[in-house]
Amino acid sequence: MKLVQTGADPRLAGGRLTIDLTALAANWRDLADRSRPANCAAVVKADAYGLGIAQVVPALLNEGCDTFFVALPEEGIALRKAAPRADIFVLNGVHEMSAATFIEANLIPVLSSLGEIELWSRHCSRRGLHRPCAIGVDTGMNRLGLTVEEALAFRQRNMAEHMVSLVLIMSHLACGDEPGHPMNERQRESFQRVAEAFSDVDSSLANSAGIFLGRDYLFDLTRPGIALYGGSAAADGSTPMRPVISLDARIVQVRQASKGETVSYGAAQTLTRDTRIAVVSVGYADGYPRSGSRVGVPIRSVLPEGQYGFIGGRRVPLIGRITMDLTLFDVTDVPQDALENGWIELIGPNIPLDEAARAAGTIGYELLTSLGDRYERRYMNADEN
Ligand SMILES: *Cc1c(COP(=O)(O)O)cnc(C)c1O
Repeated sequence: MKLVQTGADPRLAGGRLTIDLTALAANWRDLADRSRPANCAAVVKADAYGLGIAQVVPALLNEGCDTFFVALPEEGIALRKAAPRADIFVLNGVHEMSAATFIEANLIPVLSSLGEIELWSRHCSRRGLHRPCAIGVDTGMNRLGLTVEEALAFRQRNMAEHMVSLVLIMSHLACGDEPGHPMNERQRESFQRVAEAFSDVDSSLANSAGIFLGRDYLFDLTRPGIALYGGSAAADGSTPMRPVISLDARIVQVRQASKGETVSYGAAQTLTRDTRIAVVSVGYADGYPRSGSRVGVPIRSVLPEGQYGFIGGRRVPLIGRITMDLTLFDVTDVPQDALENGWIELIGPNIPLDEAARAAGTIGYELLTSLGDRYERRYMNADEN
């Protein structure tokens, strides 16, 4: 087992984030198998969903992944350093100020309007180059992309006039995580029309959830993100991915409080018994959302359960409000020797990422991409290469 330590000094950090690159690689292999005969890319936008492009991308390259998606050109530049020969698609597209950067770093823009196609074509012809690009088509999300009609008309009339070399046509599912949602089939049918019109170009529709919707959704290339990182790709929490991260918080103090006293800001929670409290050095400034507080935050009127930690073989409820740098847990029932170990699990084998997200009224994606830079980061890899 190889361990790479980055981030905060392990002797000083208030929390430690462990990232299992072996599990991440296994998740990509699993998704690549499920994607066949389509190829499987990896979405590594937002610094690989917060887990770190510099560590995540080599693990994926090692499995044979050679196509990546990011949101922004600067993410593409960071990725280019880790993956000199990979195809790098940039989802949020190109504009006047960024076009030169795309050409220099050999990034492939996903073009989302006729104007953007025009712009890319102009920049390429100025340099006398045909440079690869993708076209995004909106099939129902109303986020980015040409309309289906625009894409079909472009194919018939204008494509030859443009100095573009189209390598991928793509769209994005709005409801892929709800397998029974009728929107999925509508989007697939619309995209099928486009893919047929551009039959000489690779096509791509499925994100993580799309891979689980069946063969008809695979097209030529799949684009999983969250499932690589161990998140659920379905609204009901299913999908058999291996967990990738654990988050542990350092106990900075254990204190005793009496029944009837209150805890944390707003004196929002009154103790109903004599309580032993573990105070840990992680708070909302570390991306541990305040909305996961046990009491005293609006979301608790909708979702009664707040966050839990795990220590000494049992779940312990978070108590009071989460603060910027500190969070409190009721550890009255935890044996003393377990407390002396010094750490409480916030996310990991006993508190799944998606469950921790749900308790805070959010999704695994947001939780992952919010984890700050105050953690010690430990990248574990069973592969010695
Ligand atoms: C983020 C994103 C993905 C990856 O989605 P997951 O749900 O994380 O698998 C794929 N395609 C596009 C266009 C995206 O924005």
